[in-house]
Amino acid sequence: MTFRTFFLASWALLAASCQAQEPQDSSRASSWCGELSPDAYRVLREQGTEPRFSGEFWLHDEDGVYVCMSCGARLFDSGTKFKSNSGWPSFFQPAGDTAVDARMDLSHGMRRMEVVCAACDGHLGHVFEDGPPPTGLRYCINSVALDFVPRDSVDILLKKAPK
Ligand SMILES: [Zn+2]
Repeated sequence: MTFRTFFLASWALLAASCQAQEPQDSSRASSWCGELSPDAYRVLREQGTEPRFSGEFWLHDEDGVYVCMSCGARLFDSGTKFKSNSGWPSFFQPAGDTAVDARMDLSHGMRRMEVVCAACDGHLGHVFEDGPPPTGLRYCINSVALDFVPRDSVDILLKKAPK
């Protein structure tokens, strides 16, 4: 078997294993087959930012929990989500003290605090000090970095996930 044949065979196998869950809409990431969509990869792994008003969750107001699209860790609760008119999902606090990490980001000539998933280090967005009470913080998060778990499915789906 030539290397090229081997490569193509491996690729076909990989593609087949993901095919069942392949999303029709490429903007909707699927982490369940071990792959991120190009949009999710650009945000989570390359510190990208989705265009404002474009994401799935900026107007989303269902009751439940937002988890990391990459590793499934619980990141934000819908009870802390608020309408910021920024065009990105906004939260005034993370789901727990250890859910996310923040670190200085000096890219693009700005001084911002980057927010990453504490479990997998994936880039989520930024946190600003112009949020509502009680924290005064605005976690400005990319929709493609998140997946949503409705409240009635949380106990089943997040049993093994970090708090
Ligand atoms: Zn993660």
